[in-house]
Amino acid sequence: MSNTKETHVFQTEVKQLLDLMIHSLYSNKEIFLRELISNASDAADKLRFEATTDDALYEGDSDLHVYIEANTDARTITIRDNGIGMNRDEVIANIGTIARSGTKEFFGQLSGDQEKDAHLIGQFGVGFYSSFLVADKVTVTTRRAGIEKEHGVRWESTGDGQYDIETVEKEARGTEIVLHLREEADEFLESFRLTSIIHKYADHIPFPIRMLGTVMPADPSEEASEEKPAEVETVNQASALWTRPKSELSDEEYNNFYKHIAHDYEDPLARLHQKLEGKYEYTLLLYLPKRAPFDLWQAESKHGVKLYVRRVFIMEANEDLLPRYLRFVRGVMDTNDLPLNVSREILQQSPAMTAMKKGASKRVLSLLEDMAKKSNDGEADEKSTDYADFWGQFGNCLKEGIIEDTANRDRIAKLLRFSSTQQDEQGVSLTDYVERMLENQDTIYYITAENLAAAKHSPHLEIFRKKGIEVLLLSDRIDEWLTTHLTEFDGKSLQSIAKGELDLSNIGENAEEDKKEHEEAVKSAEPAVQKLKEALGDKVKDVRTTDRLTESPACLVSDQFDMTGNMERILKQAGQDIPSVKPILEINPEHALVKRLANMDSEENIADFADILFDQAILAEGALPEDPAGFVRKLNALLTQ
Ligand code: ADP
Ligand code: MG
Repeated sequence: MSNTKETHVFQTEVKQLLDLMIHSLYSNKEIFLRELISNASDAADKLRFEATTDDALYEGDSDLHVYIEANTDARTITIRDNGIGMNRDEVIANIGTIARSGTKEFFGQLSGDQEKDAHLIGQFGVGFYSSFLVADKVTVTTRRAGIEKEHGVRWESTGDGQYDIETVEKEARGTEIVLHLREEADEFLESFRLTSIIHKYADHIPFPIRMLGTVMPADPSEEASEEKPAEVETVNQASALWTRPKSELSDEEYNNFYKHIAHDYEDPLARLHQKLEGKYEYTLLLYLPKRAPFDLWQAESKHGVKLYVRRVFIMEANEDLLPRYLRFVRGVMDTNDLPLNVSREILQQSPAMTAMKKGASKRVLSLLEDMAKKSNDGEADEKSTDYADFWGQFGNCLKEGIIEDTANRDRIAKLLRFSSTQQDEQGVSLTDYVERMLENQDTIYYITAENLAAAKHSPHLEIFRKKGIEVLLLSDRIDEWLTTHLTEFDGKSLQSIAKGELDLSNIGENAEEDKKEHEEAVKSAEPAVQKLKEALGDKVKDVRTTDRLTESPACLVSDQFDMTGNMERILKQAGQDIPSVKPILEINPEHALVKRLANMDSEENIADFADILFDQAILAEGALPEDPAGFVRKLNALLTQ
């Protein structure tokens, strides 16, 4: 360890973040205090947790707190904690670099639109660096609990690309941050301003936040000039919010707590606060965010639900607390039924944890059911409801639940929402669909495609449109997996309209008449089927007539148990080396092109014609034919004939 002062350059991402932050968040400077208090509180949490197995870490002082002081003459604000502190390596790793998965994606998503970016920056966590919103120089002095006082560390930076670091002596463990205020940030020197920010953001922090108070005379008639020495006072409520009774808590307190634990700038969309008593006793305070965090789809996310045991913070964002598909939930679970020094392994095997995880999942699903119910009870044309908002942000996570949480599959299935041929917005539930099913219809039909437009315009839909049968339009990647796991709802099977043979002959008006007409056309299309089989050869598994087309000449379908073309494309794009599944070409016997083919006899023409029909069907799925230029050439030749 070196004692000399070293100068380090910030990681590029830190520089970028600092720049962005100062430009996007200048109108919301006060959050620096929230972030620094939040870090101090995390540090106290960590110390308390580590001390459960090593009491010596307290060094005789277990009165964990945060102390804040403003010095008007020096124009500084000092935030001091007696939490875990940091050693030299930790300082370098934690405040000088951003070692987070998803950092690249985060910068990629920035748009230059300040308001939008401010949001993203908030989600990403501005944390420690928000000091530079108000300070032009920041000095951090820290010592990790349990190491000698000679091994303190001082870090200092003016936020312009580099920082100095040196080893110093520090008597008390923990971290002290001195902010040398920018001129335009002088307002924060006023203790009234500081206390009001603390009330706003940190009332619920379970550690006392102390300041030097101006003591009011007990009796107003007392001489004001009779100065009393200022005393240290606790400014915040300093009790764990979730332990307080619901009736005592205001929406504002709940929302502020949410912003603290979720690192969010916006209020939550919904919350649930319940104390559960049964075999195990635990408290849940869970929230649904308004917007998906930018790292929702990354393998690891840093934030999630926090586990507390007897109000001591244990861990966060763990799949032992809530199933992965509910990873968007934020909040707290607190229980007395786990040991304080619980390890990951104990947690995984603990029946208490299993029961709490199950209980929490059920409560979240109930909350969603209530929201969905409310949106159903509302006006039919009221498009923006809480549930619709939720679905727009997190719907795809719930779809994972169908695969992951088989015990709750039926409940989750009722919460799913889709677009359909009758309703563009993702607002159709399977229950709605079943209610609208036609007479003699016993199947829920859906189509999967690359995107909504491709699904909506698919030739496969033609007969369904004609007969007025609703079809669900699925265009999210995950839908291909969803439909392999969700094969039934309410006793009705789900069927892809691009798979297998289709028999709709019993559904709809004029069914009998249509059937007869079609049968005649099928007979006269026999020669066309034969010619196509010969011309396409290996490219297709089969060629057959269909009644699913009313306007298009041809479409591709997969065999009932084969992969759909869409699924095949998704897997190939994901780099998977899978053998191509041969499609079945279905043709419309009543179409003019098919009739023309039936009467054609030049072999060369037939071959080109067959290729055009085949490639057209691929195009209609929103994909590209194997040889697009060849397709155009053959089509042009045909047009000019
Ligand atoms: P986050 O809190 O989201 O991790 P921050 O930028 O706020 O991000 O802080 C970065 C890291 O610096 C923290 O994770 C923590 O390890 C360390 N840190 C910051 N402030 C303190 C503190 N007061 N005491 C101990 N460690 C701290
Ligand atoms: Mg932080």
